[in-house]
Amino acid sequence: MDNMKTNNIKKLIIIGSGPAGYTASIYAARANLKPILITGLQKGGQLTTTNNIENWPGRLQNTKGIELMNDMEKHALKLNTRIIQEEVLKIDFSKKILQIILEKKKYFSYAVIIATGSSPRYLGLKNEKEFLGRGISTCATCDGFFYKNKEVAIVGGGNTAIEEALYLSNIVSVIHLIHRNTSFKAEKILMNRLMQQVKKKKVILYTNYIVNKIIIKNQKIQSIQIISDYLSKKKTICISGLFIAIGSIPNTQIFAKHIKTKSGYITIQKKYNNITTQTNIPGVFAAGDVVDTIYKQAITAAASGCRAALDAEKYLTTLNI
Ligand code: FAD
Repeated sequence: MDNMKTNNIKKLIIIGSGPAGYTASIYAARANLKPILITGLQKGGQLTTTNNIENWPGRLQNTKGIELMNDMEKHALKLNTRIIQEEVLKIDFSKKILQIILEKKKYFSYAVIIATGSSPRYLGLKNEKEFLGRGISTCATCDGFFYKNKEVAIVGGGNTAIEEALYLSNIVSVIHLIHRNTSFKAEKILMNRLMQQVKKKKVILYTNYIVNKIIIKNQKIQSIQIISDYLSKKKTICISGLFIAIGSIPNTQIFAKHIKTKSGYITIQKKYNNITTQTNIPGVFAAGDVVDTIYKQAITAAASGCRAALDAEKYLTTLNI
């Protein structure tokens, strides 16, 4: 590295090809940073697993996730982003010039944007992944609309599950909320709102139950079977949709030793010089679901990708390179 020519050092490498990564690359390319974007194993990110997106502004027709992400890739390529379809195995943060290590190659860069997203937790049941986007969802804000006036179930007991139940209570007919414990981890204020929905019989609670089986008929979810060892009971609930709200795992394992995280999510340094996306390491920025414990939407990920690219540009100008 010491005798490496400076023209081998890239200005900016973006890790991840979800809405955050592609948006960052579009802004960085337009700022003439000649970004490299490394896609990871899930090119296009989480949206590629959904069949229908109805909340991306400007896309009124039924849009498949993969179509939207292919368009983002085309946009990034048109502006001369170099796209590498590989996974980053490691980053060496120990020197000012960062080393981004892939299976057979290393890249050197002055700045990096981490946009590695997150992966929803699943229950581990048969049919679960196969029916994602076709009766099973991990995102009520994204998919709730498709279950208008229908009965659905939600699994979970934390803030996300309760927020999803409250959100869906304005859309669906009845919500069956299944939680494996007696007490809920969600905040009291959310629980108070939930209990109002329970009183109205909009939400039916099943505590101490877990989902045991997803029952499919004619290629559609027909019902779920729930069981309680504690109560020695088994029930079948007819539903049109199952929302799994048991959390998500941010993809930060490979950085965890060096980049500060909280519950796995990258923590951002306090705002300074109007920079709002920098991690604890100078020149390393983070964007999208990997930092987001609240919104986790394509549009919020894209917006933070934009901010990270603008921040990286500002940082690079301070280096006089
Ligand atoms: P992600 O989309 O998670 O992308 C992360 C990227 O990082 C991937 O390309 C991955 O390959 C890459 N990566 C990870 N590790 C590495 C590594 N080591 N090296 C290189 N690359 C790596 N949101 C909406 O707004 N509307 C919807 O309708 C909607 N529907 C959804 C449906 C489903 C089933 C799911 C799961 C999510 C949905 N969401 C929706 C949420 C939305 O997909 C996410 O909020 C958004 O994709 C987050 O974008 P991101 O760029 O932060 O990360």
